[in-house]
Amino acid sequence: MIRYALHCDRGHEFEAWFGSSTDYDRIAAAGENTCPFCGSTFVEKALMAPAVGGRARADDKPNKETERGKGEKVALAAPDPRQAAFREALKEFRRKLTENADYVGDRFAEEARKIHYSEVEPHGIYGEATAEEAEGLAEEGVAFQPLPPLPEDRN
Ligand SMILES: [Zn+2]
Repeated sequence: MIRYALHCDRGHEFEAWFGSSTDYDRIAAAGENTCPFCGSTFVEKALMAPAVGGRARADDKPNKETERGKGEKVALAAPDPRQAAFREALKEFRRKLTENADYVGDRFAEEARKIHYSEVEPHGIYGEATAEEAEGLAEEGVAFQPLPPLPEDRN
């Protein structure tokens, strides 16, 4: 058994046990890791050195490590079988958002503004923007929404 510190895309941190690192890779690749706090399937290994837990730190009380070892609770999650359906729904949603829309790449903010200010015929667009650009658009009241990432996008 191997324990990984994981975190989801909303910043929840938790630990989970896997049979082996290969098991972890397989489960992660299938998008079947689930955040126990919010159910997010966008879960990644935390960038934490595995050695940290095993090394005694100066501020550790003498028995802390062993006491923790026995009663320590780990967050576990069994994949909800409905997640496959959810991913399909997510894909479908993405398809609907993009099927009649023009891909504008990193000119998204610029193009969204043109549409918002009626400088061009209204039409659907999708593309990329920086967080700063998205914030600016939101402040101006430009309507847009995040395109949900699919688990496979993260691999
Ligand atoms: Zn979460």
